[in-house]
This record gives sequence, structure tokens and C-alpha cells, in this order.
Amino acid sequence: MTHMRSGNASCFCSACNSALSRRQFLCSTAATAAAASVIGASGQTASAQQPGGAPVAGRPILIKGGCVLTLDRAVGDFEQADVLVEGGKISAVRANISAPNAEVIDATRMIVMPGFVDTHRHMWQGILRNVLPDGSLDDYRAVVQRTFGAKYTPDDVYAGDLFSALGAIDSGVTCVLDWSHIHNTPEHTDAAIKALAESGVRAVFAYGNPQNESGRYWEMKGHKFPEDIARLRKQYFSSEDQLLTLYMAAPFASPELILGAFKAARDVGARITIHVGVGEFGRSALLEKLNAANALKSDTTYIHCCTLNDTEWKLIKDTGGTISIAGYVETLMGHGNPPIQKAIDTGIRPSLSVDVETSVPNDFFQQMRTIFSLQKNEVWARRLAGDKNPPKFLTVREVLEFATIEGARANGLERKIGTLTPGKDADIILLRTDRLNVMPMNNAVGAVVTSMGPQNVDTVLIAGKVMKRNGQLAGVDFARLVRLGEEARDRLYSNANVKNVRL
Ligand SMILES: [Zn+2]
Repeated sequence: MTHMRSGNASCFCSACNSALSRRQFLCSTAATAAAASVIGASGQTASAQQPGGAPVAGRPILIKGGCVLTLDRAVGDFEQADVLVEGGKISAVRANISAPNAEVIDATRMIVMPGFVDTHRHMWQGILRNVLPDGSLDDYRAVVQRTFGAKYTPDDVYAGDLFSALGAIDSGVTCVLDWSHIHNTPEHTDAAIKALAESGVRAVFAYGNPQNESGRYWEMKGHKFPEDIARLRKQYFSSEDQLLTLYMAAPFASPELILGAFKAARDVGARITIHVGVGEFGRSALLEKLNAANALKSDTTYIHCCTLNDTEWKLIKDTGGTISIAGYVETLMGHGNPPIQKAIDTGIRPSLSVDVETSVPNDFFQQMRTIFSLQKNEVWARRLAGDKNPPKFLTVREVLEFATIEGARANGLERKIGTLTPGKDADIILLRTDRLNVMPMNNAVGAVVTSMGPQNVDTVLIAGKVMKRNGQLAGVDFARLVRLGEEARDRLYSNANVKNVRL
């Protein structure tokens, strides 16, 4: 829409609504109510942990003078405020914080907000980015899982996970669930966890099945799925107070095998993630069968859900499950319509996910815009068809909440991350508003959801550690990465007997 003069009745853009103050359209929840509630809410009692468990050392960090979207409705947003980070946690959010000992990060002309949270990404495929731009779900299973996945070495898993994790951080995703179904041997598992830890991302490692050429993993030898999760709990995940946490990635298999995986997860106190309602195959009323075995609980995230029946939706709601919509891939590959409106109608706020980098970009701006446009299109279509009582339109703020706090909830981490609430871990991103794709800014939430991309991600903190600054990842040997990626790709092509990169 062309922006028209202020007060012009024929223009509906928010900047033209003369009743709105500048503060309101920049940060549309009431900022005034917020300031008092955060003073003194210090979170200094515990220190954040590195992947290996060592506390974050160093000076406090003061993020100064940004437009702060806390996304915590009780704290509110600020047209201009400071965020103080101490011991890896957010200790205060308000204007004009004085912290003489702190290292200052200037956030002028930046939006300061919680990092994005991805609830489902197959990170081992990080060396297979864009390998399948025109493929369907069947092509994906044939090429990515049965041709490449069957031949993956532990070194390939390490490289894939490292690329995916660093790419996530680079584009502002501070927490990602690695839906890891490449555990052909326990060494494959160790390699994935090593890469996640090395990257510094906050990750949920969801331990899943191996891959082989037939797609019937249960006929394979050498793998230890799902029982190896007991070793993982002991060896890598004995503490919850670290950047890596443990889930079970339940397989795409018979109800009996799924129930076995659910039991192995619950025996070690791991939450569960599972693909359901995918294409024609997703119409098997699987959740009704699992429910008959009393297996549905609030510890489970259901991915896609495109072709579930109404009873299954009700079961998810009634048992307190969370959902993950990978809207972009669902439209590309034949999963079925992304069930955004269905989730809202059922009373479930969805989280979002990238799923496969083999066909999908790794950033969350794409995910947000996909579900925003699909939901609005559905409502417009109903209106045009004469529906007198159509659903409400989704707002950009709701979409931003799906991409942050709802992700944190589905990843079992809402007490730690997802909003800039004092006391939570400092997973924070700074987005530049002085770039040509967004300047001059007229609406902060609108700028993030409608206009920005990874090129706006200037600074990224995870548990108070600076992972990206001035648009550059910190401490990454880029020459080594280029070498690692190309070597892994070439080795994999050779092992899988695939000729070369296609044009
Ligand atoms: Zn998936």
C-alpha cells in the first residue's frame, strides 16, 4: 500500500492514523505500565551455563538505547530502554540503567527482542542445504533419507549439525530443537551432540531413529534406538542447567514402535516430539490409537498436524500437548494445509519450525510471513465466499509470539527463555532498523514481521554470551568451515554414489 499523508481518511496504514502517538505505533503495548515492574527484579542468584557446564564469566553487559520488545505482556515494550545482563541472565529492563562496570552494547536504531525459537529442524541435513528445491515428501524420503542418510558417517553428522547450528545463530534463532533421526550408530549420536555443544546454540537434542536404504530402520543392525537414550541422559544430560536438553524424537513407524520410544523417553524423564498428520498417511487416526494406550500427555509436541481428524485435535488440547507448524515446507512438499486456523480454533497457540534446510531457508522471518499470509488468506477466502462469521485475522504480534514464547513452551524452556523477562536467561537479538529494507521504522513489531530478514540481525546473545556482534559471528573460523562443509559434501556424494551437485 502506498503510504498517504497523515490523517488522510482513505489511507488505512497505522502511521496515517493520527490518533496514534509515535510511541504507540512503534511499540504498541503500553510501555508506561511496565517500567516500575522490572526495577529491582534481579536474577543474579544463579549463573548461566556453557554447554559443558562451566559458568559464564565476565562483566555485566548493558544493551543501551534500543527499542525493546520484551514480548512479556506484564513487562511491556519500550520505545527506548536498556537491558542489563548479569551472570548470563536478564537482570533489568528499563530506561537509563546505570551500570558503570558493564560492557556497553549500543542499541541505537535497533530492535532488542528475545531470540527466535525453532521447535523442529533436522540439523544433520545442514550439509544438504537446497539439495531438493523441487522435491515432494516422497522425493525427500528417497533422496535425503534413503540415499544420503543411509550413508552418513559420524563426521557428516558433525558437519551438518554444526552448519545448521551456526546458521541458526547467524539468523537470530537462539534456541533450536534438533530433530535428529540419523543415529545409525552411537558414534553418530556423539557427533551430533558434539557439534551442538561446540556451536554455542541453545539446543534441544531430540534423539531419533537411524536411516537405511529401505526406510525400515527396525531391520538394521548396529543402531541402539531407542534404548541408547538412557546412556545419553547419563553421559550428556544429567543436568537441566545447561544449554543442551534432551527430548525423544519418536519415529514415523507403527504404533507399537512409537509406544516403545515413548516409554524409553519417559523412563529417563525426556519430553517427546513426533510428526503426525502428514499427508495421506497422516489420516490413520494414530493419536486415537496412542490414546487408547494412555500415551498422550502434556510432555509431547506434535509436528505438522495437517491431516489430523477432529478427535485427534481434541486429544492434543485435552492432554495439554504443544504443536509445531512448519508452514513453508508444508506448502511446498505435500504435507497438507498448514493448520494455523485449526490450531487457533482448538485453543492451541502454535510454535513454528524450519524442518528441512534441504528445501527451506534457515531463517524465521520466512516462517513468520508464511503462516501470517496463509492465515489471512484463509480468512479473506471465507469472507469472499460469503461467510458471515469468519475468524479473526492473526496479528503480527501474535506471529512474533509464536516465533518466540510459544517456541520456548514447546521446547520445554518457557521458564528460561522466550521473553525478555528479568530473571530469564539472556537469549537476546538486536535487529538493525537502519537498513534499506526497513528504514525509516514506523512500527516495531511490524518491521520485524513484515520487512526484516537475516541481514538485519546485528547482535546475538545466548545465555549472556555474545555469539554475533556487528553482523559477524564471534569466534568462528570461516576458512575451516568452508573446508569442512565441502569435504563432508563431497565425501557423502561419493559414499552415496551420487554424481555431483546439480545445477
Ligand atoms: Zn520434520
